[in-house]
Amino acid sequence: MYEPDCTKGCPVATPIRDAIRLLLESRIPDAGKLLLENNPLSIICCRVCSQENQCEGHCVLGRKGSPVHISAIEQYISDYYLNIYKPKVSKNFKGRVAIIGSGPAGLTIAFTLAQRDYDVTIFEQNDQVGGILRYGIPEFRLPKSVLDRLTQKLYEMGIKIKPNTTIGANITVDDLFRDDFKAVFIGTGVWRPSKLNVKGESLGHVHYAIEYLRNPNVYNLGKKVAVIGAGNVAMDVARTAFRHGAQEVNILCYKDESTITAREHEVEYAKIDGAEFIFNKSAVEFVDGGIMLADTEIIIDENNNEIVRPIPGTEKLYECDSVIVAISQGPRAVIVSSTKGIEVNERGLVKTDEIGRTSRKGVFASGDVVTGAKTVVEAVRISKIVANAIDDYITNEC
Ligand SMILES: Cc1cc2nc3c(=O)[nH]c(=O)nc-3n(C[C@H](O)[C@H](O)[C@H](O)COP(=O)(O)OP(=O)(O)OC[C@H]3O[C@@H](n4cnc5c(N)ncnc54)[C@H](O)[C@@H]3O)c2cc1C
Repeated sequence: MYEPDCTKGCPVATPIRDAIRLLLESRIPDAGKLLLENNPLSIICCRVCSQENQCEGHCVLGRKGSPVHISAIEQYISDYYLNIYKPKVSKNFKGRVAIIGSGPAGLTIAFTLAQRDYDVTIFEQNDQVGGILRYGIPEFRLPKSVLDRLTQKLYEMGIKIKPNTTIGANITVDDLFRDDFKAVFIGTGVWRPSKLNVKGESLGHVHYAIEYLRNPNVYNLGKKVAVIGAGNVAMDVARTAFRHGAQEVNILCYKDESTITAREHEVEYAKIDGAEFIFNKSAVEFVDGGIMLADTEIIIDENNNEIVRPIPGTEKLYECDSVIVAISQGPRAVIVSSTKGIEVNERGLVKTDEIGRTSRKGVFASGDVVTGAKTVVEAVRISKIVANAIDDYITNEC
């Protein structure tokens, strides 16, 4: 069957052409049903995906002019539909499934399996569901009310949610099997900030992005803030800092403009908000009142790898009130250290096969905890496959 380029460009193959046709025929509920059945997080993805590389980037109209504004159309349909959507409520369950973590991966599995008559319980260490969607992506990019509306639908489906529950700390994976959960899904993401490993990193004015974004209100950053890193998370930090009283935000990059991995428009927004980039500088020590910054040079090592290193003797004090390190995140080990038989790789990421099976029978995983930091739509894509695998496993092997 012919698949339009916009659908081909979408990791979850959103049937946007058909949805637009239904919209134009005044059949918005049918359009919404089509989008939701394909992607339970359609209402999120239309807000946070990098459409310029995906659906809109592949739109044929974009070759000669502006592409169809697919994200806005998807948002319109999904917003409308979520208000009227009445989820199926199951009475005859096929078995209990435990979902650990309520980010995009856990939500996709919970949504899919609840609609297939599984008795789903979500275990979430935070007080509300959403993972990075709620505790990472700032309100000005993804309003929390969208997540509240989604959460309400989870309850309407009969999904049970246990907030403030860290699996591995008290309840373990073994407890879940003891209590007749037929399968356990791990979607715990990457919540351990990577360190720079330089002296002074534990000082009071040095913070980590993922921790800052969780609740910016509780930080007193002062007027001048330095952000170390140049990815999307760094842009979110810079823009959030301005909204919480910072007057000057510098984004420090250890190389030239090629260090910037953030989406072009996120960089533009950060600049419009007032952020300024400082290139070719490396933090060699955090000190009271700022950071010791050195100029950097690039050398090629014996294995032909590019190494960026500070040039000795060029260190100077860069004064600032606070620093936020935004250079990446890795997984925490709380579940694997309390559970036998779940293998991880050298980065601590859970090892799975292509359908999400871990090395322990009945335990599945997907999302960032398997792939490392990726995207919402990528978590949804693989989690749809994993939901099918869990369904197959309980139906045929339990
Ligand atoms: C600041 C920031 C901005 C981002 N912006 C975008 C964007 O605009 N677009 C995009 O596509 N992607 C973005 N991403 C990436 C995207 O959010 C992630 O790829 C995605 O959320 C991964 O989903 P996940 O379900 O695997 O993990 P997460 O969203 O991290 O969710 C994991 C959940 O598991 C819970 N958990 C962890 N351990 C336990 C435990 N032991 N017991 C119980 N619960 C536990 C956590 O509390 C959390 O709720 C961003 C990431 C960050 C950090």
